Amino acid sequence: MTGQHRIVILGAGYAGLAAARRLAGVARDAQITVVDARATFVERVRLHQQAAGQRIPAWDLREMLGSKKIRFVCAEATEIDTVGKQVVLDAVPALDYDIVVYALGSLADPGRVPGVAEHAYSVATPEDTRRLAFARGPVAVVGAGATGIELAAELAESHPDLPVVLLGSEEPGVWLSPRARAHIRRTLERLGVEIRSGAKVIEVTAEGVRLADGTLVAAAATVWTTGFRVPDLAMRSGLAVDAAGRVRTDATLRSVSHPEIYAAGDTAVIAGPGDRELRMACATALPTGKYVADAVVARMRGVEPQPLRFRYVLQCLSLGRRDGLIQVVRGDDSPRGTVLTGRAAASVKELIVRGAARRSDLNRQSRVDDRIASTYG
Ligand SMILES: Cc1cc2nc3c(=O)[nH]c(=O)nc-3n(C[C@H](O)[C@H](O)[C@H](O)COP(=O)(O)OP(=O)(O)OC[C@H]3O[C@@H](n4cnc5c(N)ncnc54)[C@H](O)[C@@H]3O)c2cc1C
Repeated sequence: MTGQHRIVILGAGYAGLAAARRLAGVARDAQITVVDARATFVERVRLHQQAAGQRIPAWDLREMLGSKKIRFVCAEATEIDTVGKQVVLDAVPALDYDIVVYALGSLADPGRVPGVAEHAYSVATPEDTRRLAFARGPVAVVGAGATGIELAAELAESHPDLPVVLLGSEEPGVWLSPRARAHIRRTLERLGVEIRSGAKVIEVTAEGVRLADGTLVAAAATVWTTGFRVPDLAMRSGLAVDAAGRVRTDATLRSVSHPEIYAAGDTAVIAGPGDRELRMACATALPTGKYVADAVVARMRGVEPQPLRFRYVLQCLSLGRRDGLIQVVRGDDSPRGTVLTGRAAASVKELIVRGAARRSDLNRQSRVDDRIASTYG
């Protein structure tokens, strides 16, 4: 390795911290700085629990990163000056870089349905979720994807008297195996969640949601979970991005327009098995963050890195604290017939979530945690 490479990691979520942890181990001569707008790492995969009023851990980023002599800067990145090779920050002086690891994650996407931005809540960030935790009265959860299912189950289990309706254009868990879908439906119904499939929401108001057939579903709080968008920093800084603003990457997760910038996690377009794009998931963020660190170090040593080889193993859904679903998947994320359900599945998911958080903590080095977290789905 030659000289002191200045590596700036933008975002201390699962991807950014996985990259930092790996770099701390293998790039000892580099000057590594991690930037995040928040001072704490919040386990994002537990935000539906926070929305249901549960306390979830928050980890001090300075402590997590400190003992490895990685510099942590708490500030918002407002621009990447790709000509001057500087990351511009809102509160402190700009950082010079040789390499940037871009891992800014994702945010709530209000979409185009009228009233969502004004009236709907979200569970995409800790700030969004804390607002929801104060809401009282019947809840309409819009979106029967993984986030909507986990949220509806958690709310119903934690607040048995709270009416919860889950609205989706398709049945909950439509992408999973028939056994998995049946288990989700049974569990949601046991918890008292009303499931409305085939529901097209055309407006959100302070009173609830209006469907395409004219029905008004009354709700004191509507939670919009139908998708996520990414920060626009890459687009504003002139990087090649897709229509959603995600950084376009090559087979080594390097920006196709700016070779000194790598991207990982939710904010990157990453080709996976069968040319399917990798999905936004902790299951994607952890291994791609780690891979980026290896690719950066390989090039610093003058070696061309092997392309990313990525395979999914499991998808894990919590269905409250006492039930869950582990769906075994093929490498390309398509479901196999095998599922684990009930308390056993809830325990496995909890183990994996804890493993993912420990794996993000640079002070803890556990091979067992690494193995558990690498199966995250
Ligand atoms: C309720 C919920 C449940 C989920 N459950 C699962 C699950 O069971 N399994 C699974 O695989 N995935 C799950 N996910 C998805 C998973 O949380 C994300 O895919 C994952 O967090 C992405 O990691 P990341 O590192 O790319 O981004 P993030 O974890 O979002 O981290 C990005 C970081 O960048 C920082 N940041 C953003 N913009 C700036 C800026 N301009 N300047 C400085 N810092 C900035 C943010 O503060 C944040 O810390 C869930 C998500 C939610 C919301």
